[in-house]
Amino acid sequence: MAGVLANHRGIEATGLGPVAAQGNENAERQSTTSSGESGQYQRIKAYLDSLPLIDMHEHLRAFDQLPGYVETDQGRGMNLYGLWAGSYLQRIAKLTPWEPKEPFEKWWAREQKDFVNVRATGFYRYLWLALHDLYGVDFDRITDKQAAELNRRIFENYRNPQWLYQVLLKKANIKLLVCDRYWERFNFRSDYPFEFLTFNVTTLVWGFHPSEFNTSLHPGQIMGPLDDPYLFAQKRGLPLNSLDDYLALLDVMFVTAKKGDAICLKTTQAYERTLRFEDVPKERAVKAFGRPRSELTAEQIKDFEDFIMWRLVELSAKHEMPFQIHTGDAKLAGSNPTQLLNLIEANPRTKFELFHGGYPWVSETGAIAMRHGDHVWINAVWLPTISFTMAKRAFHEWLEVVSSNRIVWGGDDTSAEGIYGETELTRRCLAEVLAEKMYQGELTEEHARQIGKNILWDNALELYPRLKERL
Ligand SMILES: [Zn+2]
Repeated sequence: MAGVLANHRGIEATGLGPVAAQGNENAERQSTTSSGESGQYQRIKAYLDSLPLIDMHEHLRAFDQLPGYVETDQGRGMNLYGLWAGSYLQRIAKLTPWEPKEPFEKWWAREQKDFVNVRATGFYRYLWLALHDLYGVDFDRITDKQAAELNRRIFENYRNPQWLYQVLLKKANIKLLVCDRYWERFNFRSDYPFEFLTFNVTTLVWGFHPSEFNTSLHPGQIMGPLDDPYLFAQKRGLPLNSLDDYLALLDVMFVTAKKGDAICLKTTQAYERTLRFEDVPKERAVKAFGRPRSELTAEQIKDFEDFIMWRLVELSAKHEMPFQIHTGDAKLAGSNPTQLLNLIEANPRTKFELFHGGYPWVSETGAIAMRHGDHVWINAVWLPTISFTMAKRAFHEWLEVVSSNRIVWGGDDTSAEGIYGETELTRRCLAEVLAEKMYQGELTEEHARQIGKNILWDNALELYPRLKERL
């Protein structure tokens, strides 16, 4: 995170009580430009800090099921290992495993080497930021004694769900969030009063046979009883003997999701296959229905997936549930958002939300949103955490090519600390971009504020009027 401007998000000012001041100098994004720009940054950042947020994407489980709980020598709970293990750092570095019930010091002695090569990465920096702001710890310079104390405080915090509420609602200033339950896709009741849900349709393209709903066939996906459309149908006494039955079931699922707390669709098929979905005639999809994978060719399976994806996109319009699609960083060969152009062009009534700004294809995402500005939104979710530098470039560019009401954002995390880190990085990123545009004379301060508020709050309400139910 090469710094341009300074940041002074006051720890005391956020109402969680005093924390150690140690490490503060490191948290500031050092000013390398004029004090005028820095002053503009301070003002716009303070304004963004004052705004409540609508966070369009997290993966928040019920408090007692949060990932990261381990057997400590004090019993089951969250600890420093659990936080890092549940973080995105695991994507780029392997952490030393935790041995059940071992004393913290034993793990810590083995662990520290894991951080040596990742200090500059986004997946380290975002949790560094959270540990700094929430615990007053500078993880870059942490001593053994401080690490043990940090571990103890994390364990204590996670004995009480209030910690989650305090961090999300007070520190991060989140008012509402949308949770993507990729572990229980067809459970449409939210766990938290501030939470709406996605209807995660990732697995539905595999509905040609009941044997598909099994993690061993799809190791990249978690699948249990609440991810299986055949069980969904069975529970409700719905027949499922033909492709027409399956299509009718999809419609019922949409109605059920909407009656529950789901407000949008979500797919992560980009982790499984190319995002190019052909408009396959029904006769070809029929051939796959009712047959297990072992009896089908790869082409027949793709035909079925493509056919169902098109139906999901149509149902998205019919039931007025915008479609959040993971684009970019997944199966890289097929996840460029331009792969979706045929679907987007043929379905002008469907509202598409392109996730992660299509990273690394952020310019392509901007161009798609510019071309299809009436039904495509850019979601910057996760991008400032992946690469702060890329996120800054993306916000600069997107604000130049699309109306500022087409950009929304989200976190994409599982713990209080992770969600805090992601939201704070987004605010910083946006504040730096807006301050730079002000400094260059491209935005008045008033207009910069309005754009910031659009992205963090207004645009979500415009796209999802149902969010107002909980305001
Ligand atoms: Zn996600």
